[in-house]
Amino acid sequence: MSTIANQPISLLPEVQAFLKRPKRLFINNAFVEPASGKTMPTEDPATGGVLDHIPAGDATDIDAAVRAARAAFEGEWRAMSPTQRAACMFKLADLIEQHAEEFAEIESLDVGKTITSARAIDVPFTVFLWRYYAGWATKLYGKTLDLSLPPGGAFFSYVRREPVGVVGCIIPWNYPLAQVSFKIAPALAAGCTTVVKPAEQASLANLRLAELIAEAGFPPGVVNIVTGLGESAGAALAEHPDVNKISFTGSTAVGKLIMQAAGRSNLKRLTLELGGKSPTIIFDDADMAEAIPTAAAAIFNNSGQVCNAGSRLYVQRRSFDRVLEGVVEYAQKLRIGIGLDESTQLGPLVTSEQKRRVLSYMDQGLRSGAKLVIGGPDVLQDVPGNFVAPSIFTNTTPEMSIVREEIFGPVLVAMPFDDPDEIAPVANQTHYGLAATIFTRDISRAHTLAARLNAGAVWINCFGVFDPNLPFGGFKQSGMGREFSQEGVEAFTELKAVTVKL
Ligand code: NAP
Ligand code: MG
Repeated sequence: MSTIANQPISLLPEVQAFLKRPKRLFINNAFVEPASGKTMPTEDPATGGVLDHIPAGDATDIDAAVRAARAAFEGEWRAMSPTQRAACMFKLADLIEQHAEEFAEIESLDVGKTITSARAIDVPFTVFLWRYYAGWATKLYGKTLDLSLPPGGAFFSYVRREPVGVVGCIIPWNYPLAQVSFKIAPALAAGCTTVVKPAEQASLANLRLAELIAEAGFPPGVVNIVTGLGESAGAALAEHPDVNKISFTGSTAVGKLIMQAAGRSNLKRLTLELGGKSPTIIFDDADMAEAIPTAAAAIFNNSGQVCNAGSRLYVQRRSFDRVLEGVVEYAQKLRIGIGLDESTQLGPLVTSEQKRRVLSYMDQGLRSGAKLVIGGPDVLQDVPGNFVAPSIFTNTTPEMSIVREEIFGPVLVAMPFDDPDEIAPVANQTHYGLAATIFTRDISRAHTLAARLNAGAVWINCFGVFDPNLPFGGFKQSGMGREFSQEGVEAFTELKAVTVKL
């Protein structure tokens, strides 16, 4: 593990100007103060200091945003043709692309993530996703069908696919620009309007996006962005009787609260993308030159703050020492530093609170008898900023919290296994079911195991391959519904069966 990189960083003039602008809520295409007039600080992950202040929106602001979204849904947005809606979305994709470096710097500053990954992943994926879903706006179909049962004559029936209405989008902090786009792009393609509640820890990219939304030509009220706390602004959105659907990404605990709120209020539709504790399984016959660095990247990318992070590593016993050694070596070589330094490979965690949470899991692991191989709760704790060393534990048991719970940090548990036929139940021994990764050269074993794993995504001899055309979401308590692909846009629609007597 190398020490903290500390190159002097100069920000783009556009980013400096953005940071200087006072931050406002975005309602009805206008930048407005929250009703309470209150703001809240957002932390600088690199120093632990204050990066900026954002509006602390609450239920009053959410209500104003929902009213704007409702008016746009019943009015101008609904009246626009799919091609016109697509044109706004393509325009926004172009604008994000034109401001790509700005977004990469803002994400790196606000989340702590490496500028190299923000440039390579967050921003280009977002641009591609907007174009992908702009294409869907003109390609949503209903269907016609013949009836068999009704007596007394011929009928003609057809099924319309209609937008579900006003959608509340609640966003986590790990990929703020991408995550908000995963929700609003398909919602807008389906003809819905939206109210976004960004994550309190990292709202800046969402607020910069608001400026481009205004520029892209969307009518007022189509996208509204209300920053604020989950327990006030987020909860008000989840409870709101005039919101037809919530699309949420975040923890399983908050996902359950949102489900309860939907049940208490108006039975709004839900898509929930929740946490994970995803296994990486390496067999003796794997291509180790590929498997070892991929398994390491699966947990250390974005400092482990990834819902599908490969946080449990299972290796066939004969290869265990070799794989462990390789993953440890990978971790040792990672250059740790502030996200904006181009040489950094592992940035700080998003907040000091998240750092405390991750360190506390490591303490629990040590107390319950796990063996620390590298990293641990004491390393890097004398430097400012929210740094956590890449950490690997062995000698774990299935009951330990570091094996069961989502840590959302650069912490890996590694375990050997003997019987290839018994790895599926072991990998499935979790209440999550988001993703799983298999490394083997045995094609039959790979597909047989893929079918037995309870996970919404299975990667074979690769990890974390995402595409807007590939549905993503969880089994079990990793969520319900899917994002991306045709399923992802249809999730923002209702079906209406219309029957005519001929
Ligand atoms: P979180 O604490 O669940 O927060 C997610 C969002 O919900 C935030 O905007 C939060 O607001 C809001 N919120 C909190 N309490 C709420 C309430 N009572 N009602 C309505 N909204 C509320 O999750 P996080 O810490 O931001 O993100 C980490 C978690 O997200 C991890 O568990 C991770 O696995 C999961 N995640 C899943 C995926 C996926 O695709 N499956 C992707 C990324 C992350 P505040 O910011 O104010 O708390
Ligand atoms: Mg921040």
